[in-house]
Amino acid sequence: MDFALNEEDIAIRDTVRSFITREVMPLEEDVLRRERKGLPGIEPATLKELQNKARSFGFWGLSTPEEYGGMDLPAITQSLIWTEAGRCNVPFRFGGEADNILYYANEEQRKEFLVPTIEGERLSCFALTEPGAGSDAANIKMTATKDGDDWILRGEKTFITGGNDADFAIVIAVTDPERGARGGATAFLVDREMGWTSSPIETMGPATPASLYFDDVRVPSRNILGELGQGFDLGMEWIVAGRWRIPAWAVGIAERALSMAIEYANTRETFGAPIGQNQAIQWMIADSHVELEAARSLVLRAAWTADRLGFGRRADGGPKGNPKAAANEIRHAAAMAKLYAAGMVNRVVDRALQIHGGMGYTRELPLERMYRQVRLIRIYEGTDEMQRLILSRDLLRGYTKLGIN
Ligand SMILES: Cc1cc2nc3c(=O)[nH]c(=O)nc-3n(C[C@H](O)[C@H](O)[C@H](O)COP(=O)(O)OP(=O)(O)OC[C@H]3O[C@@H](n4cnc5c(N)ncnc54)[C@H](O)[C@@H]3O)c2cc1C
Repeated sequence: MDFALNEEDIAIRDTVRSFITREVMPLEEDVLRRERKGLPGIEPATLKELQNKARSFGFWGLSTPEEYGGMDLPAITQSLIWTEAGRCNVPFRFGGEADNILYYANEEQRKEFLVPTIEGERLSCFALTEPGAGSDAANIKMTATKDGDDWILRGEKTFITGGNDADFAIVIAVTDPERGARGGATAFLVDREMGWTSSPIETMGPATPASLYFDDVRVPSRNILGELGQGFDLGMEWIVAGRWRIPAWAVGIAERALSMAIEYANTRETFGAPIGQNQAIQWMIADSHVELEAARSLVLRAAWTADRLGFGRRADGGPKGNPKAAANEIRHAAAMAKLYAAGMVNRVVDRALQIHGGMGYTRELPLERMYRQVRLIRIYEGTDEMQRLILSRDLLRGYTKLGIN
């Protein structure tokens, strides 16, 4: 068994680390100042400039196929990059990406939606959650009713990331109420000009999702993404695809918090000695490191599972062997990583804040922002409880066996 990264992964990780340190990190103070004034942490133009700079180093479209100008990196390599990005409190992401399910688009739709999204000319959002359907996504009520060659969309979506800025939404709506969401829901590509409106939702962290309102919005049939009735499956594919990404990012956030805690424990003195000489502080640091490395192992295992089974990148050409068994294995590994890393980063940031005492609670340091931000990781893209549901169901029904397969 070899735990070492290959040379290419090390080179990519180190290049990203130096890019983040040199180009992105210097913006952190400004981001914190802006957010405290209620402004978005980073202006879209500044983000674009950074993304273009990264592109000039070859970093563009981490998960995008090469035919669209992307890197199509294996999941392992992408997870290393997400961890690097997590260390910095700047809402930066590499450009050249599109929602994974947009690749179900036909030729016309690819020109109209996929390519401009990859190029950063159009912003998308993915709208599944409704006021009455979050964890229980199959309970969505938004309807799409056939009218001639069009569909009339009626209902509300909520908590939609990027929903207030998006040019178009990928909307999952019920087209066959008798069948319900499973088999009776369809994905639509809906331009904002077609008539939907949005309003932002204030949260305790930097995220500002939006509610989307569809009041008899007319959408032509040619805007159906994938097949009629395939919407729920597409929705699940969107959510599960990158479940190792958020935990990988969480590992980076925890690394930053722990490194701040170690430095402070070595320099802050009380009762004539650095606080790091107290066992209470030492144990917080030790426990944090164990949990951080455990989470990293689970993330790498989830990404490796996706790569090994042919889901890691598009160039691999899809699942190898039994697709259903492969999907189960990937989902299980990703659920373990998501559940554990979400709890881990909350505990590590909390301890780092505690080690900083009163300073940790102030807005002079980024710890309070990290504390507010990481709480979300236990909720979105499947709550802790939903991950536990997946894990226990897989085990109780025998989809997953104990031990190393
Ligand atoms: C910032 C943010 C961004 C988001 N972005 C998007 C997006 O881009 N697109 C999108 O479609 N959605 C998005 N979401 C929605 C997100 O996926 C949901 O909030 C999440 O799935 C939980 O759903 P809910 O909020 O309705 O909680 P509920 O489903 O109402 O759950 C409430 C609580 O009950 C628990 N619970 C529910 N059912 C069970 C059960 N059977 N057993 C045990 N416990 C249970 C939950 O775990 C949770 O703790 C976003 C949410 C947030 C906060």
